[in-house]
Amino acid sequence: MSRVYLQVALPVPLHQLFDYSIPASFSHTPHIGARIKVPFGRRELIGVIVGVTETPESPIHKIKPARQLIDEHSLFPPQLMQLLTWAAQYYHYPIGEVFSTALPTLLRQGEDLYDNPIHWRLTPVGLQITADTLSRSAKQQAAWLALEPHQSHGISEDFLKKVQIERATLQALAKKGFAEEFGQLAIQTGTPQLKYAESPLVANESQTTAIHAITEHLGQFKSFLLDGVTGSGKTEVYLQSIASCLAKHQQALVLVPEIGLTPQTVARFRSRFAVEIVMLHSGLTDRERLRAWRRAYLGHAAIVIGTRSTLFTPMPHLGLIIVDEEHDLSFKQQDNFRYNARDLAIFRAQLASCPVVLGSATPSLESLANAKQGRYQHLFLKERAANVSQPTIKLIDLRGQKLQAGLSPALKEAISLRLKKDEQVIIFLNRRGFAPVLLCHDCGWQAKCPRCDAKITLHRNPLRLHCHHCGFSQQPPNFCPECNSKELKAIGAGTVRVEEALQELFPKVPIHRIDRDSTQRKDSWHNLYADIENNKAAILVGTQMLAKGHHFPNVTLVALLEADSGLFGADFRASERVAQLITQVAGRAGRARKAGLVLLQSHQPEHPLLQQLLSTGYQGFAELALAEREMIGMPPYGYLALVRAEAHYPEMALNFLTEAMSRGQVLDNAPEFWGPIPAPMEKKAGIFRAHLLLKSNQRSRLQQFLHRWLTIMNDLPEAKRLRWHIDVDPQELA
Ligand code: ADP
Ligand code: ZN
Ligand code: ZN
Repeated sequence: MSRVYLQVALPVPLHQLFDYSIPASFSHTPHIGARIKVPFGRRELIGVIVGVTETPESPIHKIKPARQLIDEHSLFPPQLMQLLTWAAQYYHYPIGEVFSTALPTLLRQGEDLYDNPIHWRLTPVGLQITADTLSRSAKQQAAWLALEPHQSHGISEDFLKKVQIERATLQALAKKGFAEEFGQLAIQTGTPQLKYAESPLVANESQTTAIHAITEHLGQFKSFLLDGVTGSGKTEVYLQSIASCLAKHQQALVLVPEIGLTPQTVARFRSRFAVEIVMLHSGLTDRERLRAWRRAYLGHAAIVIGTRSTLFTPMPHLGLIIVDEEHDLSFKQQDNFRYNARDLAIFRAQLASCPVVLGSATPSLESLANAKQGRYQHLFLKERAANVSQPTIKLIDLRGQKLQAGLSPALKEAISLRLKKDEQVIIFLNRRGFAPVLLCHDCGWQAKCPRCDAKITLHRNPLRLHCHHCGFSQQPPNFCPECNSKELKAIGAGTVRVEEALQELFPKVPIHRIDRDSTQRKDSWHNLYADIENNKAAILVGTQMLAKGHHFPNVTLVALLEADSGLFGADFRASERVAQLITQVAGRAGRARKAGLVLLQSHQPEHPLLQQLLSTGYQGFAELALAEREMIGMPPYGYLALVRAEAHYPEMALNFLTEAMSRGQVLDNAPEFWGPIPAPMEKKAGIFRAHLLLKSNQRSRLQQFLHRWLTIMNDLPEAKRLRWHIDVDPQELA
């Protein structure tokens, strides 16, 4: 047999695999997908074996032997290996770092996969033979003799190794059907039986159509866009589709947005199914995460629910993928490995030959275009489930109104009316803290972050100026630093100020604030749910976090204090985001029997986007927006990549991008270049940032170009003097 070498993906910022030889101490060729310890320079690193080759790229005499094999089995089924390898190429991110991202922290650090080490025992057939049967192999005979007295608990492989019984020998016995590995190790051949904890609801007509379409395709690849207004019962469609998947002894994977994984969501899955469900989210300890990951890997967990990176969880019997709130930005990772879990979910489903369902009340324009072009089957739920009607939406013109912490007289009146009826109200404002501006009334000076091109937000309790972009924080001055005046005024309102004003207006009503500052306290959600569930008058004030996944049955009024904020963003997706946000927030109103009202405060009530939303809803807006994107050739009708460069001096980042662009313009398949330009917020945390945008009308041409261009860029001497990266299919141009 000719000699083989291992191709290992190592967590280093280089776009390549590394070759290692197999030391004599290894009893067999390791499995692809297993972790291995190898020497790297003067360090020792843990990598994943991605390939085995007889013809390595490095010169043979330079190849060092690997040190230690960590896993006897592959951690990634072949489909996942393929997905990760593909993703590394598509997003142009070092393959070793991609594999590293896909692993739970403890596994990355070399921890054993199993709590229980691998055990061996004899099979029923193995118990019926005698040692004589194995007289032709002394090794196998010794192994049989060692195992025979320990049938009830078996013997750990580590122990067997210590008494010179090698894995290869045990495997030879296994091949003859005399011995087997067992315990936590064995990947289950099928996921446990479907068991209900409560019976499903009776699906309505459109739900039934959707469920049939999806379940009919179990066992094959097919993409669905489940386009259903808020409260239309999308979750019920997921649950019933999952039930069919579980009935086939397959596993279901559910991806949810970062802040959508609420206790309520989880409770709905748990109260429906009496099967093993695991969660993977940022709130877990490393140990808990490994445990959940292992249950999925072994095929024990029937349902795996989690945020973006959960997509990379190995599941031997994956039968259905669901991406809930598919339009949500959190599916795209915004740093390091900049993948889009929603897009990769489609590819994973294709590799696993299973259906994938993207669900939303406000589908992304990308997914709508895919549905229009027939790549996704478009399923609609147009009515709210359980005979609840859609809320009424009205605009409040803010011009010339006297505002109290951003609240207009008409809004205060409406709130008071609802509270009197013991109903609940949500006030939405996408700005936390007390006030966004600290202004000198005498000279016009405004407090700014010294490290960013941005205003700094005033917070109370404790009184601080706090930058929401870089985390910088300082005492507010007592006097204006320009003119020494004492007349410093807090202008505008953040959630804290609104909360204070409401407390004054409605002193007897419980008021809950939900934003990043408030929810750091662990009990805050708990108290909130307790108050919400007793169905008495209450007010919730919050940011975006309130817009997702929650079910507040007694909320009958939802107000957006600044419906037009965000309409004028520099990003071409600004209007899509605003339309989604308004629609999602509005969806929180009147979810149960009582009719809902949505009030949008705006200084520009005649803005075409607001008018469009009011008259035709999100769908009408999306039609128009798609036509507009097509006209200008922007996504989903064009393909973008964004290069961001960061340097300590403003010119440096721009110059680097100019140089990079001129190297690119002469290559084949060169895309359109836009820029380079300073980033919308040029200075952030003391660093100057610049952008170069690439646009092509063909995905594959852009990819071919990027492969060549990035190789050239990596070799530019300037490339090593500053930080830069490429973002393929960027979601935010910030
Ligand atoms: P979505 O996920 O689309 O926002 P949900 O699945 O949360 O909608 O459903 C909204 C409400 O309607 C929930 O209280 C749910 O229990 C109820 N519901 C959904 N489908 C049905 C049905 N077929 N019959 C009765 N109630 C339903
Ligand atoms: Zn001043
Ligand atoms: Zn700052």
